[in-house]
Amino acid sequence: MPSIRAGLQDIQQRIEAAAVEAGRDPASIRLIAVSKTKPAGMIREAFDAGHSLFGESYLQEFLEKRTDPLLEGLPIEWHFIGHLQSNKVRSVIGKVSLIHGIDKISTARELSRQALRQNLHADYLLEVNTSGESTKYGMAEDEVLSAAETLFTLPSITLRGLMNIASPDEASARNEFRRLRQLLKQLREVAPNPEELSELSMGMSGDFESAVMEGATMIRVGTAIFGARCLR
Ligand SMILES: *Cc1c(COP(=O)(O)O)cnc(C)c1O
Repeated sequence: MPSIRAGLQDIQQRIEAAAVEAGRDPASIRLIAVSKTKPAGMIREAFDAGHSLFGESYLQEFLEKRTDPLLEGLPIEWHFIGHLQSNKVRSVIGKVSLIHGIDKISTARELSRQALRQNLHADYLLEVNTSGESTKYGMAEDEVLSAAETLFTLPSITLRGLMNIASPDEASARNEFRRLRQLLKQLREVAPNPEELSELSMGMSGDFESAVMEGATMIRVGTAIFGARCLR
């Protein structure tokens, strides 16, 4: 089993190669190390290897890990990348710098209400179901533009971009990444502050190179860094 340090280096090199091939600046792509189901010790190992941006998907697990003695007090940037229900929203505000998995206006409204109440600000991404699979979360593509009109008005929160989880097969995935990029472009044309709306969180262990080719600004990689996950 290769070390976490070696895994991180390998992914960074592959991001660079894909970026160069696409004519993009590799520095415009951030690697989120997805540490869900992995113990704090492994996160610490990645941190000690120079990586400080991590994504977690399960609320309770995240809340426990962030205060683990191995990690507490370290300058770690957390992103919440899992699906977030309205009743869980208030627990992540102020603890993560970006929430990726908002897929309903009602959840965004609750995020706004709770951020306002806690006197905090929250940045988030809208999850879009580009694969059309009914088992996946995410707003339907054809609902995004009209939903955005409402999302743009909600106080104390800022929509920073779009996120998806693509289909397993490569050709479909590439196509879905491209559509997500086009959707972001359309959104920026109607956004009151387009400069705030620039993130594309797309690509995982199996498909991040395609995502980089299609304009990902953040990729979320778990298995290829930390190894396979056990079932929860
Ligand atoms: C688990 C997860 C990932 C990482 O998946 P890997 O295939 O292990 O890289 C990325 N994004 C989300 C939303 C996840 O839940």
